[in-house]
Amino acid sequence: MRQLHIPAVLPSPQWQDPTKSWFAELPHVLVSYAHWRRQTVLPVDRYTAGAYVIGDSGGYSIATQGADIDPVGAMHWQIGHCNVGFILDVPPYGSTGSDALTNTKAMQGRAADRWAESLDKTVKHVRRALPEYLRSRQHEDIPFRWWGVLHGETPEQRTAWWNAVRNIYTFPDPDEGWAIKIHPLNDALQLAHALRFLGQQKVRQVHVLGGVGLQCLSTLFVLGQQIGLNLATYDSSSSIKRGLRRAVMIPTPDGLDFEERLENWRDRKEVFGRAYMRDKCDCDSCQDYRRDHPVEGWGSEREVEQRMVYHNHLTLLSILDRRWSLAKQDPDGYLRAFVPQWAQVLKAFDGIPGKSIATGTPRSLFDYL
Ligand SMILES: [Zn+2]
Repeated sequence: MRQLHIPAVLPSPQWQDPTKSWFAELPHVLVSYAHWRRQTVLPVDRYTAGAYVIGDSGGYSIATQGADIDPVGAMHWQIGHCNVGFILDVPPYGSTGSDALTNTKAMQGRAADRWAESLDKTVKHVRRALPEYLRSRQHEDIPFRWWGVLHGETPEQRTAWWNAVRNIYTFPDPDEGWAIKIHPLNDALQLAHALRFLGQQKVRQVHVLGGVGLQCLSTLFVLGQQIGLNLATYDSSSSIKRGLRRAVMIPTPDGLDFEERLENWRDRKEVFGRAYMRDKCDCDSCQDYRRDHPVEGWGSEREVEQRMVYHNHLTLLSILDRRWSLAKQDPDGYLRAFVPQWAQVLKAFDGIPGKSIATGTPRSLFDYL
């Protein structure tokens, strides 16, 4: 199995001149049609072989912000800019509004509340976009592949959603796959149930949508291998968002976790975050920082912010790489050591229904990536 962290990026002025931005270094990105469709400059125009430029169609924005999105327009955009794109799903959940802690909108409610309408709209979207996709597949030079999105909180719901979407298109190509959205967010048991289902369907490429934390990712690392995935991807915007609010991720001594420290430069002239980066950290970004500012001075506020974003991104990648190598060596031992709910996770993976432990409300910043 190959696993990839895909940073989710929002439109921002730094894209206008990619040569001056660390964003230009990112091999993989997730961009949403809901956010990027009106942008003239896209990071994804520099698509290169081997990179994953994943286009989310905007189903999440429909659920959390009531966005109005045309499935054919989304498909055109995805084919033009991305090599993987998700169907325009309508998630069967409502919106919590904005979460002050993470500055993100989350989904709430039970899938049953909006089930019929969400599934009906999703199926219509798939049916409308399908001819455009099939036309693109006649051109060998277009790398784009369409992926399904699975919702549901029970085996019955997953089966119903799966059958209804596959009734329109079965996603048979080896480069096609399925994305899943875990609800409640960060519920490792729900992830285990969903992965069990996808394994039974012999899905080989899976994307986990929307910023799950380290415990869920650890579950994915272990169970993804168990069900024989070739590729497991997951997106997150947390390291970017942390940097933009001047929070620096500091890895623990074993390199398997991190602490977050928020630097208040504007009011209190605190410098510990930038000092840590310039004087202590050895990531590629911080080595550049040290080279550019060897003795005194921190660079412009804009530079500091960008350094924090990139440092956080590289720190997260390093933590994930270390965890992944442990999960590969000894999956069982890794699960027991890094997922406190491991016994319940294994039961869920065996198909035993259990009480989900909702962690939709952040208990601490460290629960979230
Ligand atoms: Zn660093």
